[in-house]
Amino acid sequence: MAMEEVDLEKELCLRFCSYYKPPKDNILACMGYTVIKKLLQKGNRIPFRKTERKISFDTEKLLIENMCIVCPFYKEDCDFIQRKEESLPCGGFILLCHLLEENFITIDNIKDIR
Ligand code: SF4
Repeated sequence: MAMEEVDLEKELCLRFCSYYKPPKDNILACMGYTVIKKLLQKGNRIPFRKTERKISFDTEKLLIENMCIVCPFYKEDCDFIQRKEESLPCGGFILLCHLLEENFITIDNIKDIR
């Protein structure tokens, strides 16, 4: 999908993110959202496809070290990073993990734009 065709709140946040709430005003976006948005702006093809396949620990670690560390929610507000019970990562993180594992993107694509 090209950027101009994508309603990211609908395709990404509503579909993939268990933390999504409709925005009241200009609230801060998490890094997962920002990276997906920039990948689309750069012309990357992103299939917004849900899969039940479990994400590997290595992929999670790679994305935490290269993306989450610069997320505005990383230090205090991300339950997944804080390891609160069985908290899930944000929707952008989940989708990016699958895109990495399916070789749609590389970690360098993320490092280049974050
Ligand atoms: S998983 Fe948490 S820290 Fe990582 S991008 Fe998403 S909200 Fe930010």
